[in-house]
Amino acid sequence: MQKMNVESFNLDHTKVAAPFVRLAGTKEGIRGDEIYKYDIRFKQPNKEHMKMPALHSLEHLMAENIRNHTDQVVDLSPMGCQTGFYLSVINHENYNEILEILEKTLQDVLKATEVPACNEVQCGWAASHSLEGAKEIASEMLAKKDEWRQIYKEEA
Ligand SMILES: [Zn+2]
Repeated sequence: MQKMNVESFNLDHTKVAAPFVRLAGTKEGIRGDEIYKYDIRFKQPNKEHMKMPALHSLEHLMAENIRNHTDQVVDLSPMGCQTGFYLSVINHENYNEILEILEKTLQDVLKATEVPACNEVQCGWAASHSLEGAKEIASEMLAKKDEWRQIYKEEA
């Protein structure tokens, strides 16, 4: 396969075993600051995906709550294929801590009584939300916490 510019275009999506948390790339700035980009994969590519309203609410909930656990978040955004999120952090290279932060953030989702900022002033498609759907995804992800470190399927 030809080498592509986008890191994930070079990833063989048939070989991964979701859910997982994968370091997808790093970037160093001219002053030595480092950005770490993680692929947080909730669903098995081309087998399952998150429904848009649930994914959207999960995005709002995670993006808001994760910043209570670290001030090093640059961005948390959903993938267009609806199977996961990208998390970018600055100067935070500890993978285990990232998993702990993710776990705490997903537990916040389970405790939520409303989706933050799901109104027409603060969101671009405020009608497309599902708190229950977001909680379902978070709970499934937490139940498989032991699998987060395993990125690829076991070789047969
Ligand atoms: Zn929104």
